[in-house]
Amino acid sequence: MGTLYVVATPIGNLEDISYRAVRILGSVNLIACEDTRVTKRLLDNYQITTPTVSYHQHSASGKIDFLISKLKSGQAVALVSDAGTPGISDPGGLLVRAAVIEGIKVETVPGPSAVVAALAISGLPTDRFLFLGFLPHKKGRETLIKEMVASKQAVVFYESVHRIAKALEQLQTAGLKREMLVCRELTKKFESVYRGLPEEILKQLTPENTKGEFVVIIGK
Ligand code: SAM
Repeated sequence: MGTLYVVATPIGNLEDISYRAVRILGSVNLIACEDTRVTKRLLDNYQITTPTVSYHQHSASGKIDFLISKLKSGQAVALVSDAGTPGISDPGGLLVRAAVIEGIKVETVPGPSAVVAALAISGLPTDRFLFLGFLPHKKGRETLIKEMVASKQAVVFYESVHRIAKALEQLQTAGLKREMLVCRELTKKFESVYRGLPEEILKQLTPENTKGEFVVIIGK
């Protein structure tokens, strides 16, 4: 049986990768990645020539069977996502689950994850936090917003460029009066952090600075 290595990769800055991750990516037989073009940029940067295969949320279940058969035949496979730690709000978890069920050894190669990167610079109490991943777009969204406002612990979620302003407006309407943080494009050229109540952050957002990827934290 081969080993499935779950390898964390940078969330922006290509230097944010461990020595071990580079060694493993360069030595496995195959790398399963969400988008082969995104991963190729990383691999080229470290002169890694390991073959890649795409594995993403729209992949047919046959793709998991294919990767499991490679592992069963003794090959070492690395799993990466477009950014950060596979399985944290991306499809990596399904392959890991299948490997666990098949009794295949799964090893973690830890590193960046946007949720932890944001918490680390929050300056807010982070001894306990509730991570919600992506909020639902429609059904259940309002209920979750109300739960966040009532929550006694810090809450963290991922948000896309399309809904960041909407999320802040909904939190404001629901009466959120705790300090929040909106982290944009962490480790990238346009990294920025906005702090305050939802209405204060909304005032700082313009069409230019709402492009990119976001992590939102609500203090406790
Ligand atoms: N597996 C990844 C991780 O460990 O962070 C998360 C994958 S999820 C599909 C992508 C979301 O993570 C983005 O929509 C954004 O909310 C957040 N994200 C990823 N990179 C980010 C960055 N550099 N700055 C801010 N948020 C980021």
